[in-house]
Amino acid sequence: MPDLYAVIGNPISHSKSPLIHTAFARQTNQSIQYDARLAPLDGFMLAVENFRQQGGKGLNVTVPFKLEAHHLSTHLTERARIAQAVNTLKFENNGISGDNTDGAGLIRDIESNLGLSIAGKRILLLGAGGAARGVILPLLLQNPALLAIANRTPHKAEALQQQFTSHGHIVAGDFIAFPEEKFDIIINATSASLHNALPQIPASIFSHAALAYDMMYSHELTHFLKFAQLHGVQQLADGIGMLVEQAAESFFIWRGIYPQTKPVITMLKSCL
Ligand code: NDP
Repeated sequence: MPDLYAVIGNPISHSKSPLIHTAFARQTNQSIQYDARLAPLDGFMLAVENFRQQGGKGLNVTVPFKLEAHHLSTHLTERARIAQAVNTLKFENNGISGDNTDGAGLIRDIESNLGLSIAGKRILLLGAGGAARGVILPLLLQNPALLAIANRTPHKAEALQQQFTSHGHIVAGDFIAFPEEKFDIIINATSASLHNALPQIPASIFSHAALAYDMMYSHELTHFLKFAQLHGVQQLADGIGMLVEQAAESFFIWRGIYPQTKPVITMLKSCL
């Protein structure tokens, strides 16, 4: 019998995680079954318990349950504790381990796949929701020269600045708070692209940027990436690489083997 894993969320039918993990398992000769589970909005805990009783070994957790998964975990990694969000659960005899692999996925995508070092760079992170929170510490650990967090609702960005201020040079504000700053990398961690919208950022933020990165992915450039391209940014990337890299990190946590990600990124791009 293959070991049972799944991704759990609401909605979930759009999830690419079953495709990714099935490809990883084939590539590494691991005997696993990985499917997608829809949990009712008020029924996450019960859905997890049912899955566990069916023999489930681990879960990926997606919107909107990452905070609940954090509360459910009996053991948290440092990065999950600080992010206050869990996207990977591992069921063990003595409890439930919770981890957050989103930040590691982003760093690997930028550094290994896109070939840009974060050390010494000036980074602008748009958004202050769950995805932004999960990547702040991993970004700061790479020693950027500056991390600026800009959010539509600035007090949420300022709260994150307060939380992470001891880990590096970090500033916060709204989308027009940094008119003089020269950013090297601009990361869109807002959900604006999900709604076909563009965060109300001034075009001047792109004047020195080498990379514009949108965590959202789709078969065509998002509004954010089109806007960046229009204003001269040479390198554009969507969140497919991050998605596959965070999945590889989860796969490693569960199976102790690190799959190759590049062929899976290529496969996924071809079927978007
Ligand atoms: P949240 O709902 O937690 O946060 C949403 C954020 O987007 C908030 O900062 C919100 O600002 C901002 N926002 C929403 N709409 C707009 C808008 N029209 N203009 C400007 N800002 C806006 O979402 P998540 O953080 O969980 O997800 C954010 C994005 O990251 C999603 O697109 C998601 O798909 C993607 N993601 C991708 C991953 C990957 O592996 N590629 C992994 C995780 C997430 P405010 O505070 O003002 O409401």
